[in-house]
Amino acid sequence: MANNTNEGKKFLDSVHQYFDHAASYSRLSSGIIAQIRAPNSVYKVSFPVEIDGKVEVFEGIRVQHSHHKLPSKGGIRFSMQVDEDEVKALASLMTFKCAVVDVPFGGAKGGVKINPRTSSVKTLEKVTRRYAAELIKKNLIGPGMDVPAPDYGTGSREMAWIADTYQALKYGETNALGCVTGKPIGQGGIRGRAEATGLGIYFGLREALSDTELLKGKGLNGNSMEGKRIIVQGLGNVGYHAAFFCQQDGAIITGIAEREGGIYNENGIDVKEAFKHRSENGSILNFKDCKNFDNSEEMLELDCDILLPAALENVIHKGNAGNIKAKIVAEGANGPVTREGEEILLRNGIIILPDLYLNAGGVTVSYFEWLKNLSNVRFGRMGKRAEEASYRRLVNAIETSSGKSMTNQERAFLTQGADEISLVRSGLEDTMINAYHGIRDVMVEKNIPDLRTAAFLTAIEKIGVSYESLGIFP
Ligand code: GLU
Repeated sequence: MANNTNEGKKFLDSVHQYFDHAASYSRLSSGIIAQIRAPNSVYKVSFPVEIDGKVEVFEGIRVQHSHHKLPSKGGIRFSMQVDEDEVKALASLMTFKCAVVDVPFGGAKGGVKINPRTSSVKTLEKVTRRYAAELIKKNLIGPGMDVPAPDYGTGSREMAWIADTYQALKYGETNALGCVTGKPIGQGGIRGRAEATGLGIYFGLREALSDTELLKGKGLNGNSMEGKRIIVQGLGNVGYHAAFFCQQDGAIITGIAEREGGIYNENGIDVKEAFKHRSENGSILNFKDCKNFDNSEEMLELDCDILLPAALENVIHKGNAGNIKAKIVAEGANGPVTREGEEILLRNGIIILPDLYLNAGGVTVSYFEWLKNLSNVRFGRMGKRAEEASYRRLVNAIETSSGKSMTNQERAFLTQGADEISLVRSGLEDTMINAYHGIRDVMVEKNIPDLRTAAFLTAIEKIGVSYESLGIFP
């Protein structure tokens, strides 16, 4: 796969430097560290697809960074920029991301060189199905092997095509739907997966904002989301949902930067309306009461409390990091800050909430979807009514002993059993809170000054334990 830019290499170099720096704090042997760092397998494939009567050759790749736990897990990216180094970097981030949030998978990532915006739905379907078939042929996909998911340029539609291709070629396999996550609900998906990455970002940010020790001297008023000024880069699935949930909890979205330009309003932008405006007009520009920015990169340098890059890698680098005025950089995207950029941000006292923690909500809910597919039952199906019956008995007992009866509304609220969406959200919230404190504990214990190094180290140690517990080096 040709590397047409230097971006993939820069990204992989950054991930390696982050890893090496964190590994220098580890007690693990150098051999185990080398094994944890190396991508375990790389599969590159070229395949023909007929488009309008002509044959075109497409290039695809799947990197399984770690087999320390199976299946391996990570999205599939559709973009003309896809290259081997980029996918290696993304796959290794998946390994560490899963470890940080205790999702029992190795890391992987895939990509196909195709522009999803200029390709027809028919072409996208043919390419997706053929790419899936190439992976199936080599046993590189499956519920116990490697489980893809959406990433940049793909969504639930592509995952549905992959699941359908897998089922057609593995006819009768009971767990077949667990071969891919991020599927539509009607095809084995789970409620809450679409917004999971964005909601996880919100939970992670909320946790950091309540961390008085971390925020000491950073000039952020109050320890909550209320009134925090946020600029978001990328209004795709991740950026949109993250901004939406933060806004719902009182944050002010002052800027939205996109490919075609950006919009700014210091009094706040209604995220839902802005999203609708962009879908209807094909551009974020000219949204009501907002100032337009033709060059959206400039928006990263505007004054704000939180800068939320939620699009692609390497957007904050040594060339612009010195101009960033945000107090917190929240990495919604994978790899938005280069190692050189990070050094400058940290020197300027800016807190970075690292990708391998902050955007792990997506894979966390993918894990729940996979569990649902393996058990072939919707979460809440068995217990919801039984739970409600016992709450009703409790409410009845309270009413009898107090002599007071509750309103229908109070009764409905108190006797509600957990359904799939509430279980998914509670599992996600718990995961993001626990992982945050896991990272903070390592930071304090090892006297590490930044969250990324602590997050990498947390992951390295957890993975190391699973190698060590084998008793032999594999
Ligand atoms: N593509 C997402 C990520 O980078 C989700 C991966 C998954 O759910 O497997 O984290």
